[in-house]
Amino acid sequence: VTQLILLIEDEPEILRVLRHPLEAAGYAVELAESVETGLQAIARLKPTLVLLDLGLGARDGKDVIRGARQWSDVPIIVLSARFSESEKVAALDLGADDFINKPFGVGELLARMRTALRHRAIRQRGDASVTHGELRIDFLTRRARVSGRYIHLTPREYDVLRILVQHAGQVVTHRQILDGAWAQGDVSDYQNVRVVVAQLRRKLEEAKCAWPRIMTEQGIGYRLEAEEESARE
Ligand code: CA
Repeated sequence: VTQLILLIEDEPEILRVLRHPLEAAGYAVELAESVETGLQAIARLKPTLVLLDLGLGARDGKDVIRGARQWSDVPIIVLSARFSESEKVAALDLGADDFINKPFGVGELLARMRTALRHRAIRQRGDASVTHGELRIDFLTRRARVSGRYIHLTPREYDVLRILVQHAGQVVTHRQILDGAWAQGDVSDYQNVRVVVAQLRRKLEEAKCAWPRIMTEQGIGYRLEAEEESARE
């Protein structure tokens, strides 16, 4: 079955650049050029994945995320030409899966797409554990292992690491980590997230975890290294 990629972008030049490499990678590509036609295409075509530009004429591409997330969990990767980190954070907090800065390499884009599709497949399988590199997380026992050996984590550290592993290779915002690892109503701010991530990095280092490492996305959040990133080094 050919996987359909929906590109929502008002500059046709981007489609000219992307069509051939995406088709060569085995994907079919459809284009929508506005917020309205983009939402209609998601409903009608049920694409495997959406590539979304945030600048759609006078409209804001975030309206696509806002609309689609009411009824669709299709993976959405934002193509961002903007330097504004707050735009990316807003798009991610609305439910985008990841972003990639323009201009981007096609290889990098394909890697991000594979990661997003892999995560959706994992979510649909509903496995009770997930492995990424040397890390293994058991959801039922709430324990983590590095190369098969248990590491001691506080409940908070476990939850932050679980969220990062569940989004391995994808960016996770400070807000997403706070919402997922701190009880509602907790007085918590981003500084708490930084402290826990620093502890996690130290414990992973002590456990001699060579990869994945926890990477900082400046002004946005964190990203657990993807397999492809590790392989590139
Ligand atoms: Ca545009």
